[in-house]
Amino acid sequence: MPKFTGKHFAILGAGRSGLGAARLARLHGAEVTVVDEGEPQKIKAALDKQHAEGFRTLSGQAARDLVVKPGDFDLVITSPGLDANWPLPKKFTDVGIPLTGEMEFAFNLTDLPLVGITGTNGKSTCTELIAHLFNACGKKSVPCGNHGMSLSEVVASGVSYDVLSLEISSFQLETIQNYRAKASLWLNFAADHLDRYPDMQSYYAAKARIFENVTASDVAIVRAGETVDTGAAQRLTFSAYGAEADWTYSAGCIQVGPENVTFEVNSTLRGRHNMENVMAAMMACQVHGLSLEEMQAALAGYEAPAHRCELVRELHGREYINDSKATNLHALEACIGAMERPIVLIVGGKDKQLDYTPLRDSLKGQVRAMVCIGEIAQALKTTFEDLVPCQTAADMAEAVQLATELSRAGDSIILSPGTSSFDMYTGYAQRGEAFRTAVQSLT
Ligand code: ADP
Repeated sequence: MPKFTGKHFAILGAGRSGLGAARLARLHGAEVTVVDEGEPQKIKAALDKQHAEGFRTLSGQAARDLVVKPGDFDLVITSPGLDANWPLPKKFTDVGIPLTGEMEFAFNLTDLPLVGITGTNGKSTCTELIAHLFNACGKKSVPCGNHGMSLSEVVASGVSYDVLSLEISSFQLETIQNYRAKASLWLNFAADHLDRYPDMQSYYAAKARIFENVTASDVAIVRAGETVDTGAAQRLTFSAYGAEADWTYSAGCIQVGPENVTFEVNSTLRGRHNMENVMAAMMACQVHGLSLEEMQAALAGYEAPAHRCELVRELHGREYINDSKATNLHALEACIGAMERPIVLIVGGKDKQLDYTPLRDSLKGQVRAMVCIGEIAQALKTTFEDLVPCQTAADMAEAVQLATELSRAGDSIILSPGTSSFDMYTGYAQRGEAFRTAVQSLT
């Protein structure tokens, strides 16, 4: 008999995570109600699927009006976009219904081996790269979790993989109980998401839970200098910035300390920060049996992902670079640090309550001028105008035009916003496309 026959689960959120969890719970025999306070037209995909897949959906006003009584449900499963302390999940937990996160729910229903990847920046690049390395070396893998398919979707698909490359956000780690992986990556840590967390410590504590259940047979792959507690796991370190580490990078080469091997990096990924991603990814794949030789060949075939320090066009001696995915200060600093030419920077977007003053040191000597956009345009201008010429622009076309006027031949004109895009766009991808369109229409 299926594991959850006779049980009734509520699933909060009708996105990829929630729908994946709904499908997985149904496969195991549970009765399922998906609850999403979004209006019905916004969650049309979920509503379209409900009859075919046999779950019920409550949306909009019906979801907001829902009254939960003790015993109405056996379990409530949350999507990572919802904080367990928000009113909707609390309706369930306040009457004693146990809560679990979507990733944790799926984890408990699979035996597939995992690499788990967290960090403030570089998660998606690493997650994709790890899946690419495995696939190119003959082991079946897929990038998933916080990137691409949710873990529930992968598990519900029934497809067998040799290793999953699982991107994990702090939001997903908030609700784990048993989750652990044979190889766990901690790429870096810096201020972010202060619109969701009360302070940096809470964000850090959520992320650090990636090592909560590791055992002595697991490996923690950590950026050198990070103080995170990796519990019983074997700890291996990497650095592209000169720190002492097991794996290091300099002058185009990776040095693998434990094996005393050096090899030249052949990759379309640019910048030292990306070399840290390359090292961390290769270290994780090595834990799962890939050799250095086969990985080097596979690395050359990896296409650098869009919107992350991506070269869009060269025109009149200037290069235009799209780093729209830089949604926090750390990514913006990494981008500036990775460039060799003088920079005209397009920066700004949604107000995430971040403090931009630490950027003043990184700008000196490298940034020729700034064009500030979005909700925080004026605040950024006030913070930096004594250091570099600063202008504000109302939209991306104007920003690209102004940046071009402020630049000289030999400069890089870079969109690296340092914050999220939701004040003007549906996400970083749409913002990056707006930049691409504006750049392509320059004559
Ligand atoms: P995430 O999924 O963690 O947001 P991405 O790979 O999508 O990470 O990259 C997000 C941003 O961070 C991009 O602007 C990218 O250039 C920058 N970045 C990528 N890797 C690193 C790294 N290891 N350290 C600092 N910044 C990075």
